[in-house]
Amino acid sequence: MRRQIVAGNWKMNKTYPEALALVTEIATDLQNNPANGVEVIVAPPFPFLAAVNENKGANIQLSAQNCHQKESGAFTGEVSATMLKSVGCEYVILGHSERRQYFQEDNQLLEQKLKAALAADLKPIFCCGESLEQREQEIHFDFIAQQLKEGLFHLSNEEFDQVIIAYEPIWAIGTGRTASSEQAQEMHEFIREQVSRAYDAEAASKTPILYGGSCNAQNAKELFACKDVDGGLIGGAALKSADFLTIIRSF
Ligand code: 13P
Repeated sequence: MRRQIVAGNWKMNKTYPEALALVTEIATDLQNNPANGVEVIVAPPFPFLAAVNENKGANIQLSAQNCHQKESGAFTGEVSATMLKSVGCEYVILGHSERRQYFQEDNQLLEQKLKAALAADLKPIFCCGESLEQREQEIHFDFIAQQLKEGLFHLSNEEFDQVIIAYEPIWAIGTGRTASSEQAQEMHEFIREQVSRAYDAEAASKTPILYGGSCNAQNAKELFACKDVDGGLIGGAALKSADFLTIIRSF
């Protein structure tokens, strides 16, 4: 059986006390009632990473939401993968559509960021996803294939072993309009097929592929029941402990 993973992307939300309260609530609940092998990841904003790490207990892993492509140097305001590793991060989200859209991150830059993350021993959570326009034009499969090829499939077999893929259709992010389980399954199966072609059948069968985009406590069960959906990358619903915990227990 493949790994089952629920990751909470907190985006630019919460104050320091709120972040501590949220992680403590999740950690306490998981300690009292462990989630049966489901891997739980939280990705708080940079300033809260170290403190969340101290308070997350043994049942939660830490992720950053982004990293710079260089290891260190004169890049005012930026944060390197090495720094993230040093405060306890195991993962880093790369290629989120909000980074692509608002911060002009393209597949070439993402290639450098992936290399930097892996060099620092951080595991990438690599996001892909099409716009509504692309889906309406029926070019969504081609677009995802291209994002994967240019953004991800330059990695060696050993490097690719570390990767979690997240499929996040842009039209479903923060809109309340989730992909149907058929739409999610169809794309996840397609992504797995691309992995099989780029690497091999074994890599395809073991790579976790998460769904993201208006996944919540009500629809997680149906989405996670899909054969090729291995969990979720959760935005809004990861900001409330009760909702996030329900999603964690939706397998
Ligand atoms: P929402 O769950 O708020 O739609 O966000 C999904 C997402 O972008 C997670 O990275």
